[in-house]
Amino acid sequence: MDYSNLKVFLYWDKYTWYALGALSASLQKHQIPYEVIKGNVKQPISKALNTDYRVIYAESSRSWTIEALKNRLKIIKKAFTSADILVVVGGPHATGVPEEILNMGGDVVVIGEGEETFPHLVKTFAQKPITNGDLETIPGIAYLDQYKTVQRTKRRPSIDLDSYCPYSDNPKFSIHPPIELMRGCAFRCRFCQVPYMYGNPRFRSIKNIETIVKHYINHFKPIKKTVDIRFIAPNSLGYMEKKRGIPNVSRLKELIDCLTQYDIRLFFGTFPSEVRPEYITEETISLFEKISNNSISIGFQSGSDNILTNMRREHTVQDGLAAFEIMKSHGYLPVFDFILGTPSETLSAQWETLDLVRQFQGKALVRLHYFMPLPGTPWQDLIPVPLSSEILTEIGRLAKAKIITGEFVKQMNQIEKLLESRNPQVLSNS
Ligand code: SF4
Repeated sequence: MDYSNLKVFLYWDKYTWYALGALSASLQKHQIPYEVIKGNVKQPISKALNTDYRVIYAESSRSWTIEALKNRLKIIKKAFTSADILVVVGGPHATGVPEEILNMGGDVVVIGEGEETFPHLVKTFAQKPITNGDLETIPGIAYLDQYKTVQRTKRRPSIDLDSYCPYSDNPKFSIHPPIELMRGCAFRCRFCQVPYMYGNPRFRSIKNIETIVKHYINHFKPIKKTVDIRFIAPNSLGYMEKKRGIPNVSRLKELIDCLTQYDIRLFFGTFPSEVRPEYITEETISLFEKISNNSISIGFQSGSDNILTNMRREHTVQDGLAAFEIMKSHGYLPVFDFILGTPSETLSAQWETLDLVRQFQGKALVRLHYFMPLPGTPWQDLIPVPLSSEILTEIGRLAKAKIITGEFVKQMNQIEKLLESRNPQVLSNS
C-alpha cells in the first residue's frame, strides 16, 4: 500500500507513552511510517497539510490527561476543518467514555486494544477520506454518525500478545517501555479499569519475553551503564496462573531463571508490575532472591474489611498484614497502595485505614490515593466521599512523619477539579 501522501502523528505524553511502544510497533509491522510529536501539535499538522499530505493524528488517553487532551483537540479542530485530517483517540479513558472524546472533537475512538484496529483505520484512510460507511466496517471503534449519535462497531477479538512487539526500534522514534507480561486481570475490583477493558488475563510467553529482553540488551548496552528490565503487569505474581489466586510458581521461576542468566538488573513486583497481597507467600517470596529490587509494591487498598468487600477486592486486611510479615521477615521493604474516599466509605472505615497506616511507620512505605471514578468501571458514576478536616489533618501528620509518600491533597484537589469539569451537576448535588 502507498503511504507516501500520508503522515501519521502519534502524540507523546509522559502519562501515556507506554501505549506508544505497542502502537508504533504495530505500525512498523504493517510498514506504515509514523512520526512521534509532543508539545505543539498545530505546527507539524499544518506543515503536513500545506504540503499536500493527509494526516492522522492519534493519542492515547487516561483520565489524568483529559484536560490537556481536550485542549489539543480544541486547537486541532479550530485550525483544521479539512477532510484530510482524522483525529483518533484510544486508551482507557476513551474506551470507557467514547462519547466524551467524540464530543470533544475526536473523529474516531479506538475501543480497547489498538494493535490491530489502528493500522486498519490508517490503511482505510490512506486510500481516501474516510466515510461513516467505511467506519462501520472497522471492528473495535466508536464514531458519531450524521445525527451526532455514537455508533460502536462490533468488538474486535483480543490479540495474542506474542504476535505483537511492545517496543519500537525506529531509529528516529525509539520507544522502549517496560515489557508487558500480561494483559487483563482475573479479578474484578470495582474501581479498576483493567478487567473491564481487557477481560481475563492473557500472557506473553517466556520465549517471547526472552527475545524482547535480548533486544533491550542490544539497544541499551551501548548507551547505559546497566540494562534495567521492568515489566507491566496488573498482578505480576499472577503471571501464567491457571487458576485465579494460585500463583504458578514453577512458570514464574522459569521466567526469572531464564532472564537472570543475562547481564541485566531485573525489577519485578514493583511499579508498574505490582502484586496482590495474598500472592505473597513463603513460596513466592523466594522467587525474589534473584530480583534486583528490595521493595515490593502491594495493592493493600483499605484497612477496613467492609471497604475491601465493597471494592470486590477478594482479600482481607489480614491478607495484607500476612504479606507484610512475610516481606519483612525476608528483608523486603513493603510499598503499600491505599485508597481513601471510595463510595459509601464511612468515617470509621477511614480511621481504620489511617490507624493501620500509622502502624507501618519505619517498616513500610505507603502511597495514599484519593478515589477516582474511572470510566468503564462499575464505580464510574459514583463520586468520592469527601474527607473531613480531622481526616485531612491526620493525613498531613502522616505525611510529615514520612509514613505516607506522594502528594495526597494535591491529587485530591486535582481529582475534584477534573470531576467538576466532567460533571458539575453530580458534584453540586453531593
Ligand atoms: S486492581 Fe489489580 S487485582 Fe483488582 S482488577 Fe485491577 S488489576 Fe486486577
